[in-house]
Amino acid sequence: MATFVVLRNKAKMPILGLGTWKSPPGKVANAVKAAIDVGYRHIDCAHIYQNENEVGEALQEKMKANVVKREDLFIVSKLWCTYHEKNLVKSACQKTLSDLKLDYLDLYLIHWPVGLKAGKDLFPVDEKGNLLSSNTNLLDTWTAMEELVDAGLAKAIGLSNFNHQQIENILTKPGLKYQPAVNQIECHPYLTQVKLIEYCQSKGIVVTAYSPLGSPDRPWAKPEDPSLLDDPRIQAIATKHQKTAAQVLIRFHIQRKVVVIPKSVTPSRIAENFKVFDFELTDEEMSTILSFNRDWRVCPLAEASSHKDYPFHVPF
Ligand code: NAP
Repeated sequence: MATFVVLRNKAKMPILGLGTWKSPPGKVANAVKAAIDVGYRHIDCAHIYQNENEVGEALQEKMKANVVKREDLFIVSKLWCTYHEKNLVKSACQKTLSDLKLDYLDLYLIHWPVGLKAGKDLFPVDEKGNLLSSNTNLLDTWTAMEELVDAGLAKAIGLSNFNHQQIENILTKPGLKYQPAVNQIECHPYLTQVKLIEYCQSKGIVVTAYSPLGSPDRPWAKPEDPSLLDDPRIQAIATKHQKTAAQVLIRFHIQRKVVVIPKSVTPSRIAENFKVFDFELTDEEMSTILSFNRDWRVCPLAEASSHKDYPFHVPF
């Protein structure tokens, strides 16, 4: 069984979860069921992944069969960028809950700090293809997120892809009611995030690492991009422990007290990725892996780089 980190609302969040971005509707339900069968209790979802309905069907099936109870699951979802207006936040969360067939989320995150024009398009663009911003303010969006906790729709709320200045702005917001519990960020040996993790952990904010395997199925992958799973230095450490490169890449976060959410729709890999609680990387191996940093991002969201709240213009 996976171990946990404790959030500021005292909830226990499993340190390992299943990612679901790019998991197609026809495969994601099987992936979620396979994950629950091998012991995963934390599923990372989002409205933008357009598969929450099928994730919900799998959760229902496992709960009806008494394999798991709702209180044993830790379900995360995220507010998409086109719903940052204060009056859209609650209905966006309710849509996710109805798709997932749940009456509360364990954690609801602001997916990105960049508000986009509200409307039917999830990626609204002008004639030239530039993303259309909204005039929303992150402090107002946060107030609407706080209301979800009071309404019982989310047990905890948090952030994703926020830089430390944006987090600081939330923490120092006048009248702040709930501090963010989590910041979910890209993190792996090519983007080690030492400063942002140190900042978040010093403020009692748990960090979740996304794209821990380097997201080889990202739609914009190019053949010349670096590959974590094929890195011979990672493979050498894996061989020493009789583990796979993926298991080393996952274990790396656990030893930093960082939650990690590898995605797979392949049952054998889902099982493999969970077998990371029976070995330990040495301090030297951890430092070696940290030295592989090259500030390389899987998800730079470059289309939003001129947005007023684009998070990646500052070092951390
Ligand atoms: P990832 O987990 O780093 O990599 C997923 C890829 O690795 C898939 O192609 C998967 O293939 C393959 N894989 C999984 N286990 C493997 C293994 N043991 N050996 C070899 N290959 C393996 O990428 P990710 O999906 O980008 O990130 C993980 C999750 O983080 C997402 O699914 C999502 O939930 C979250 N995320 C959040 C944000 C955000 O903005 N907050 C951004 C990106 C991701 P198969 O599926 O074909 O097995």
